[in-house]
Amino acid sequence: MSKANNRLLKSWIEVKPDSDFPIQNLPFGLYTDNKVEHHACVAIGDHIIDLYELAYDGFFDAIEMPHDTLKQNSLNEFIALGKTITNKVRERISELLQDTNNELKDHKELHPLVLKKQSDVKMLLPVHIGDYTDFYSSIDHATNIGTMIRDPKNALMPNWKHIPVGYHGRASSICASGHSFHRPKGQSKPADSDQPVFGPSKLLDIELETGFIIGKATKLGESVSTEKADDHIFGMVLFNDWSARDIQTWEYVPLGPFLAKNFASTMSPWIVTLEALEPFRTKGYEQEPKVLPYLEYKGERNLDINLEVYLVPENGDENKICTSNYKYMYWTMEQQLAHHTVNGCNINVGDLMASGTISGPKPSEYGSMMELTWRGTKPITLKDGTERKFVNDNDTIIIKGFCQSGALRIGFGECKAKLLPAI
Ligand code: MN
Repeated sequence: MSKANNRLLKSWIEVKPDSDFPIQNLPFGLYTDNKVEHHACVAIGDHIIDLYELAYDGFFDAIEMPHDTLKQNSLNEFIALGKTITNKVRERISELLQDTNNELKDHKELHPLVLKKQSDVKMLLPVHIGDYTDFYSSIDHATNIGTMIRDPKNALMPNWKHIPVGYHGRASSICASGHSFHRPKGQSKPADSDQPVFGPSKLLDIELETGFIIGKATKLGESVSTEKADDHIFGMVLFNDWSARDIQTWEYVPLGPFLAKNFASTMSPWIVTLEALEPFRTKGYEQEPKVLPYLEYKGERNLDINLEVYLVPENGDENKICTSNYKYMYWTMEQQLAHHTVNGCNINVGDLMASGTISGPKPSEYGSMMELTWRGTKPITLKDGTERKFVNDNDTIIIKGFCQSGALRIGFGECKAKLLPAI
């Protein structure tokens, strides 16, 4: 395991016990402020560390890395240097931030350029996402949806336990956390009508998801095995795959989601490296029936990541509406990637592969409003006494995620967006 993961390490920068960003995490991101257009950075406590400035001042001179990769409008070129380099960068940052190291600590004149408060900078979408795929890999979610819209006895389609089902999504409308967007309009067909109608979606929903970012490309015709998959996964993010259920119900047969999903998706700005998540590996659901050989994997390949969803009404309090966990995924990332590429489909650095809605077995663990309110039949009551069946105009949705083992907490920060009224 990486030296940077040593749980005894402490930083000279203050990190509060409930911070998502201790020295053992060091997730990568891209920021801007009134002086910097876009520089690579890592998070530590309530601060960011500007990596381009560190490179400029010679702190990465022992690593063979073109410094320009740290001031692009995405992290793609940096990530494309490969894990040998990016892991060395993470190890070096860890060294510089340790309380026993004075190299950066004592260079106080550099601190205004290198060390900035997170509240003073704006985080950008960290990668240029060429292609985005969304899976459907939570068995509890797929079972709930199948029960609601088809038949409780045959909730899962016959292919579900054999194939990590997915669809190709839309990358252009993926936004960094902190954005807002207008309620989408589209076609739907009310149950009591023979004809479709056009108008603002009435059933605007969230999907609690995570995503992984591709860190190593393949050529057309190549496949990635489950064993090699981790070499191609740079790290993970939180993801809200906003969904218009009324539009989806009318349009999805036979080719799957289209306009119900492509109007906006929200991604958290920090990419937590697979290396930082390594201590939180855990067992997944047992896969029965046995999967085909190209989907087999060894060891504990799931991850124990606590996931939470909060709904915040306009000028209101945070209401926690769901507590789930990534460990409820039936298909692992390695299986998803092996399946995605088994036919020779090529992948590129920066591609995003999202998990699909992550629901757990308990009703409080359901990862969408559709499931939480059981299609609107069991509304949620908020602290202010109002009810929600789906997301209302001017509601803000925040997804949070963190791994916890004893005092060690490796978190993702926030994935936050506000729904504005239709225009
Ligand atoms: Mn989804």
